Amino acid sequence: MDLYEYQARDLFAAHGVPVLPGSVASSSDEAKAAAEAIGNQVVVKAQVKVGGRGKAGGVKLAKTPDEAKEKAEAILGMDIKGHTVHRVLVAEASDISEEYYFSFLLDRSNRTFLAMASSEGGVEIEVLAVERPEALAKVAIDPIAGVDKALALEILKQGNFPAEVIDEAADVVVKLWETFVAEDATLVEVNPLVRDPQNKIIALDGKVTLDENASFRQPGHAALVDKDAEDPLEAKAKAKDLNYVKLDGQVGIIGNGAGLVMSTLDVVAYAGEKHGGVKPANFLDIGGGASADVMAAGLDVILGDADVKSVFVNVFGGITACDAVANGIVEALKILGDSATKPLVVRLDGNNVIEGRAILAEANHPLVTVVDTMDNAADKAAELAAAGA
Ligand code: GDP
Ligand code: MN
Repeated sequence: MDLYEYQARDLFAAHGVPVLPGSVASSSDEAKAAAEAIGNQVVVKAQVKVGGRGKAGGVKLAKTPDEAKEKAEAILGMDIKGHTVHRVLVAEASDISEEYYFSFLLDRSNRTFLAMASSEGGVEIEVLAVERPEALAKVAIDPIAGVDKALALEILKQGNFPAEVIDEAADVVVKLWETFVAEDATLVEVNPLVRDPQNKIIALDGKVTLDENASFRQPGHAALVDKDAEDPLEAKAKAKDLNYVKLDGQVGIIGNGAGLVMSTLDVVAYAGEKHGGVKPANFLDIGGGASADVMAAGLDVILGDADVKSVFVNVFGGITACDAVANGIVEALKILGDSATKPLVVRLDGNNVIEGRAILAEANHPLVTVVDTMDNAADKAAELAAAGA
């Protein structure tokens, strides 16, 4: 789960990382009040989960509370890379002498954690990594040993941090590591980490991604979920413990096993090209035990998507054999009754496939078409989606 900057800032503050005073506002009047409370120059910053807000005009300085109100009015409702701004962070403005970059992240390909540091911050780090890779230090972190002051100093030295601030910056880095570990984060990024004219180090922008696999031991994290921005279908699927991701196509997908579902998405996207460019509408893995209840829950979520015009059920029978899955589909359609209105293309293969197909043939449901191969089934589902669109 990605956090908003103001949420990242709150976590930083809780772990002793220096940030500037501020508060979040969802109206221009609230922004004015926030600026009055700060009683100093402020920055008004769009809260959207996307980078480059500064360049897009989403970060503005304001000298007075009235100006803060004016700037908030301009920023609220703004569209930044497809994200509408509903809130702004009003924070005390800092005088900036230098801008640095620092992050801790999960390095999946090397199966470890990674620290990245550069004295050339403020810019987009992806650009720096390509144009001046030598300016970006990358140091693997042993998750057991962690990061102490000595290692923090070493990382910052490699990142070319100036001598006058390296000691204070290293203290901040240790606190960022504590934040990373304590909050079960997979990313803690500060860009820019700034040095003010008094040589004080401040985290001026924060980006934090929390590991949802750790939510069982992070009860506080539930409150950080932005319920308004959550896709209602994804929320419904989550409540039913389904692995569902909404996509923007028209062919609903149900499969068992993440690998099979991923390849189903590819096959449907490919088949869709011949049918006016229809695409998969979602990812949904119902896992190994495809009981009638799970099948019904999955179909219910997919049929609740107004964009869906057809559904492709692609199951490879393993421990849960095809006959059990076929019974699941028949039962699910009974459970759903009249709310099932869109054509279903079913492809079954694997364990007990003959019995499974016989059950579907016997039920002879008007919405169900059984197709033997994955490619042909994808083609049929795409054709039906194009016809229903
Ligand atoms: P981003 O563009 O989404 O990464 O947003 P940032 O919060 O990093 O802000 C972008 C830029 O705005 C920073 O690199 C700074 O140059 C500038 N900025 C942000 N906050 C302040 C501030 O308090 N004072 C000053 N002078 N500039 C700021
Ligand atoms: Mn930034």
